[in-house]
Amino acid sequence: MLTKSPRGTKDVLPVDVYKWNYVEEKFREICGKFGYQEIRTPIFEHTELFKRGVGETTDIVQKEMYTFEDNGGREITLKPEGTAPVVRSFVENKMYADAQPTKLFYITPCFRYERPQAGRLRAFHQFGVEVFGAENSSVDAEVIGIAMNFFEKLGLMNLELRINSIGCPKCREEYNKTLREFLRKRLDKLCKTCNDRFERNPMRIIDCKKEECKEELKGMPFILDYICGDCRDHFDKLQQYLKLMNIPFEIDPTIVRGLDYYNKTAFEIISKEIGAQSTVCGGGRYDGLVEEIGGPSTPGVGFGLGIERLLLTLENNNIEIPKPKGIDVFIVTMGERAYKKAIELSYELRKNSISADLDHLNRSVKAQFKYANKINSSYTIVIGDNELDNNSVSLKNMETGNQKQIKLDSIVEEILERL
Ligand code: ATP
Ligand code: MG
Repeated sequence: MLTKSPRGTKDVLPVDVYKWNYVEEKFREICGKFGYQEIRTPIFEHTELFKRGVGETTDIVQKEMYTFEDNGGREITLKPEGTAPVVRSFVENKMYADAQPTKLFYITPCFRYERPQAGRLRAFHQFGVEVFGAENSSVDAEVIGIAMNFFEKLGLMNLELRINSIGCPKCREEYNKTLREFLRKRLDKLCKTCNDRFERNPMRIIDCKKEECKEELKGMPFILDYICGDCRDHFDKLQQYLKLMNIPFEIDPTIVRGLDYYNKTAFEIISKEIGAQSTVCGGGRYDGLVEEIGGPSTPGVGFGLGIERLLLTLENNNIEIPKPKGIDVFIVTMGERAYKKAIELSYELRKNSISADLDHLNRSVKAQFKYANKINSSYTIVIGDNELDNNSVSLKNMETGNQKQIKLDSIVEEILERL
């Protein structure tokens, strides 16, 4: 117990953390280019927010939330997704009163009680963006553009963008009738969850992951064939804009997305290799959500992108993230006087933006060189009594083996020149 992390959680170890830093930096950089600003919201929220914001009929709310009562008797839930908290913050901080649209992005841990598999954890991480206050599908295209540009910058070219329109409450009413008619004859073959959703939200049945249910859904009516003129126009324009941006896509009428309050655009970006967990990014429009949470009626659109799945996809495509270089200088010391000098010097170097290290374990000179190699030090300097008496040390380039005598007083400048 004590030495095992809880099921469905994973440490990011020092040997891998550079990958996380790299993709996070890239994501921030690209969001910046698109004019999005970062927002950070708390790890937990009132449970009610997710019940309302994600929807009572979703897998997340019905089965996956980490919910507890805090010592003050409040119902609290660890965030299972990023959108509802951002919407809450948008309303609470009256961002709707600023110049619109409000364009936000986030990097956040998420928590869902799911069956852990490759690319499916209980504690995982998401990149996300949300735009409020713009109805035009040019924003949907922009949001998709962020994700596609991000993947492209990382060298991931063979991802597939699938888009759909799931209409608005108006056209969905009509469609739900037709869908219920289709489903009614098959209810006894569908799972219990699907049966529960039949009256309240039959469209959610399409998202059921059970093979038996999927089988029963063959031949079902698609909402795309039922959307109203307004939604059709929005969807047509989205396609035009994606074409203008040279972003290839496929229309996939089976995409309904897991969350309630989504309308019009729904999209997924799929990678072919990681099996069942192939959706790296999912998003869409949620024009009813801000109002649902208690804000003024405000359109919204966004996506969530799983970081663990992204890293898996990069790995499966043999895309290597550039490894950070080791430290600049390792100071090898001989004797107590030299050690003291190294303590002084290493601090001086670090203050001057030179990464430096020294031996803390009283190792032999040979062992110190070995260690310097191991931590990938670009240079070493050796200090002993002789060097201290002569006020001069040899600076060794660990890659070429070249050495040069330099004055101890000018060591900072000498090293800076070489880096
Ligand atoms: P799935 O259908 O795979 O369960 P989802 O519809 O629940 O996905 P979203 O709620 O749209 O996923 O979350 C956005 C992204 O977050 C997903 O596309 C995926 O990359 C990632 N994600 C979702 N759940 C997990 C999880 N349990 N572990 C790791 N990543 C996840
Ligand atoms: Mg899920």
